[in-house]
Amino acid sequence: MRVAVIGFGVIGANVARSLAIAGASVTLFERSGPATGTTGTSFAWINAHRKEPLAYHELNVAGMAEHARLADHLDRTAWYFPNGGLRWATEGTDTANLHASVQRLRERDYPITWITPKQALHKIGDLRLPANVTDLAYCPTEGHVFPVPLLGRLWAEAREHGATLCQPAEVVALEEKPGAATVCLHGGGRHEFDVVVIAVGQWTEALAGTAGITIPMTSPRQPGSAAIGLLGYTCPLPCRLNCVLTTPRLNLRPDGGGRLVFQALDLNIKVNPATPPTTDGPLAQQLRQRLADVLAGTEYAHLESLRVGQRALPADGHTVAGFAGDHSRLYPIVTHSGITLGPLLGRLATAEIIHDRPQPLLAPFRPQRFHSPMH
Ligand SMILES: Cc1cc2nc3c(=O)[nH]c(=O)nc-3n(C[C@H](O)[C@H](O)[C@H](O)COP(=O)(O)OP(=O)(O)OC[C@H]3O[C@@H](n4cnc5c(N)ncnc54)[C@H](O)[C@@H]3O)c2cc1C
Repeated sequence: MRVAVIGFGVIGANVARSLAIAGASVTLFERSGPATGTTGTSFAWINAHRKEPLAYHELNVAGMAEHARLADHLDRTAWYFPNGGLRWATEGTDTANLHASVQRLRERDYPITWITPKQALHKIGDLRLPANVTDLAYCPTEGHVFPVPLLGRLWAEAREHGATLCQPAEVVALEEKPGAATVCLHGGGRHEFDVVVIAVGQWTEALAGTAGITIPMTSPRQPGSAAIGLLGYTCPLPCRLNCVLTTPRLNLRPDGGGRLVFQALDLNIKVNPATPPTTDGPLAQQLRQRLADVLAGTEYAHLESLRVGQRALPADGHTVAGFAGDHSRLYPIVTHSGITLGPLLGRLATAEIIHDRPQPLLAPFRPQRFHSPMH
């Protein structure tokens, strides 16, 4: 089977790898370069927190397990760090929220335990616990990945199974006829395939629309959009952090070589993608202060960069995966939490595309829910 995969982010790379291993002849089309989209600016926390409703939670839990399986198969050292996730609440509504979240996760058998400040300090040696921290919880099955090394591993395996990369290659339109789909490139090239996987993240609405498929996406270009997420990247720092830490004021994780990545979700509202914040501006100062408040050794942190991440966020917040219609040869696949979900979605999509086996986990997430008039 000849399959085109459009987009070399974490979704496209996972789908290309799984399809190639399953024996498909895979061509990956990428406009700019690997990880030049959302995958290159991701917090990359492997988790299933606040994923509602239950079907979406279960998809993310399965996504976490799939990372462990993938890591057992590939060399895990370069990209996968299943070192757990630690979070805390401070006085006020935060505490009630954390308690509600822990209760809900326990009802769903998600591993999460209350820990003491001493245990937290044992896990993160340089932790600074603010005085108003009320509760601490730890999730042992969570972790984080380094997205670019992950793409490298995925693509190496896809290539070893015969996948080829067309880059730079911008797909400007998709066409369908019975049993086949055509990829139309900027500059005039046309290539026919048995199936085309649309894995272009935040650009899904426009590209799918060229074939009459409706997938509304949240625009990441408006200030205040839920699709905007600012990430700070530090220069190498002499501090100890080897797991994900999420707090009401700052989330952080290691990024390799002593660097840290962090985000302050409440400050995203201040970010205007048209005028991105600079590493020496007031927002950067605020972030640096928050960092020093929670981790010793970061007081003199230099910010290597501040990056405005743009989430691939379907309008209803949930994953889209599946053929666009009963006889369609186009398979859109787009999601937030794509780092957590990528390996799982790659395997499930392959089972549907190559083996014609509908996957129950994907049943609630079909593109048809947006009532495309053409399919
Ligand atoms: C700030 C932030 C924090 C996040 N934190 C987490 C987290 O903690 N955990 C988690 O699981 N997820 C997280 N995510 C989400 C996750 O990063 C994304 O869901 C995922 O990276 C999306 O990957 P993708 O492959 O769909 O899209 P992308 O990485 O954007 O890849 C799409 C690719 O398609 C290419 N392309 C687009 N149009 C065309 C075209 N017409 N022709 C050819 N190529 C094209 C682009 O160049 C791009 O390379 C976060 C996202 C952000 C922004």
